[in-house]
Amino acid sequence: MKPIKPKKHKILCPHCSCPTPIMADENAVCKGIYVKCKGAHCKKEFEIKINENEIK
Ligand SMILES: [Zn+2]
Repeated sequence: MKPIKPKKHKILCPHCSCPTPIMADENAVCKGIYVKCKGAHCKKEFEIKINENEIK
């Protein structure tokens, strides 16, 4: 049995769509985590929100 690898995708900046170093799988839930965009002309800080309705 091979371990099932979750599909991961990079979190994109909502301002400029630049990919961040943060990755999330399809079952991820997240809120209250902030990351700063690495985009050359963006550098905005934004909150990562993934399926926040699922957080109990
Ligand atoms: Zn950005």
